[in-house]
Amino acid sequence: MNKERKLIIAGNWKMNKTAAEGLDLVRGLKIELASVKEVDIVVCPPFTALSAVSKAVLDSNLRLGAQNMSEHNVGAYTGEIAAVMLKEFSVRYVILGHSERRQYQKEPDALIAKKAQAAYAASLKPIVCVGETLAEREAGQTQKVLETQVRGSLAGATKEQMAETVVAYEPVWAIGTGKTATTAQAQEAHAFIRSLLVRMFDETVARRARIQYGGSVKPANARELMSQPDVDGALVGGASLEVRSFADIIKNSI
Ligand code: PEP
Repeated sequence: MNKERKLIIAGNWKMNKTAAEGLDLVRGLKIELASVKEVDIVVCPPFTALSAVSKAVLDSNLRLGAQNMSEHNVGAYTGEIAAVMLKEFSVRYVILGHSERRQYQKEPDALIAKKAQAAYAASLKPIVCVGETLAEREAGQTQKVLETQVRGSLAGATKEQMAETVVAYEPVWAIGTGKTATTAQAQEAHAFIRSLLVRMFDETVARRARIQYGGSVKPANARELMSQPDVDGALVGGASLEVRSFADIIKNSI
């Protein structure tokens, strides 16, 4: 597939996989995906598997991401993990503002923006997640919600920082539900986000920015989704937990 921007496909393992299970998964992915050069491939294990997985991906085309991090650099924040701690395990990307964290941990846009700043300061690339709920879509609020989340989560980001950022459009109603946005719905939302980036930054920044789609991506729908002009990759939950399905999503996207 000839794309304007290099595809980035990331697996969000969520709270799945012990270190040993994670190792099994990446060993399989390394074999299946060894020859893939057209896609930036990222795996995002839980914190407890980062050490084992980081060693396993060292000599491969797999890159490592984390699922969250603190907005603080150090100190009395029990249970939190700082960017510098992620860097110790050669983590390159960090998912910020996933809808599950927005929902269960009540993470607001302003906090996500602070985490993004801490990520940039540590040379980590944030994958900033945005997306509307079903009620918001049905009320015709999709673009308003996306604009609030994108502006709020990227508040204070410079053009240079935006160049290091991936945006993940994840309609909440499509996450883990088996309901995928139609290609038209995905393209429309992605084009809207890109137009927003033009207004927030400039044409060049917006044209270069990678916008992933997330929400029940599977081998069977990956090709069609990735063929949309403004869809530059995928953030994959459930289907990233098996070698076969994650590898096939990537192969079907090329
Ligand atoms: C996700 O959690 O980012 C996600 C897209 O999950 P799933 O692929 O399972 O819908």
